[in-house]
Amino acid sequence: MDEAELLFTNILGCRRQDLYRNKKAVLNKEQSVLLAGALKQRISGRPLQYILSQADFFGFQFKVTPDVLIPRPETEILVETAIKYARDKRAEVRILDIGTGSGCIAVSLAKLLPQARIFATDISVKALEVAGENARLHNVIDKINFSCADLFPSCDSPYDLIVSNPPYIASGEIEQLQLEVRQEPRLALSAGIDGLDFYHKIIPQAGGYLKTNGYLLMEIGFGQRKKIEKIFQNSPNFEIIEIIKDYSGIDRIMVAKNG
Ligand code: GLN
Repeated sequence: MDEAELLFTNILGCRRQDLYRNKKAVLNKEQSVLLAGALKQRISGRPLQYILSQADFFGFQFKVTPDVLIPRPETEILVETAIKYARDKRAEVRILDIGTGSGCIAVSLAKLLPQARIFATDISVKALEVAGENARLHNVIDKINFSCADLFPSCDSPYDLIVSNPPYIASGEIEQLQLEVRQEPRLALSAGIDGLDFYHKIIPQAGGYLKTNGYLLMEIGFGQRKKIEKIFQNSPNFEIIEIIKDYSGIDRIMVAKNG
């Protein structure tokens, strides 16, 4: 749906096709006030997903607030890839999602992988509240352990998969981003001078949390592939086994195996 359709289906409480069927529909007073308020916010640069408190991801609807990153279509490729690797494993699959934000990755995996046990961390308590709410909305709260942690949780046994869409924007680039993106939490976007802080933190530690033959799957930013490959070369236990491009042909998902 485009933005206008999303706005109207929300305000009228109808489906997309109903907008075109009922061409004579007139907004009542309450709906007009809602529409005017929403348009005012949108014109001032507020992302529509924050105005409506909802975002679509992987065909599911998620609650979002300005405390969490708005889920992006590229991240759906990370979920798709995680599902592919998790299906290789037979017994209960243990998956860790680092920096869960809205919980879009953790909740989608919990819904689509009946045999999975998901662990999800975030440093932001407010983000974890949103993620917890999304897990409840999607009836997977009993399949996900959320914890407030700076990347890795305290854990008793290793994981089969670690997935993460960490912040990867260089601090100097934040001010040049679209007005809408600048309203998303800095904590979820900004990653030091070269945008690589979180790869430097996650990759060297991840091996200690993964089973042998476990996988680390990460989303990466535009032009970061070669530099991240170098970080992997310094963590000799990992072998990069797949790099997947997004819909614009940009290297977007890296998969490494823990040897
Ligand atoms: N995991 C969440 C997402 O992919 C949040 C990511 C982040 O805040 N960097 O949307």
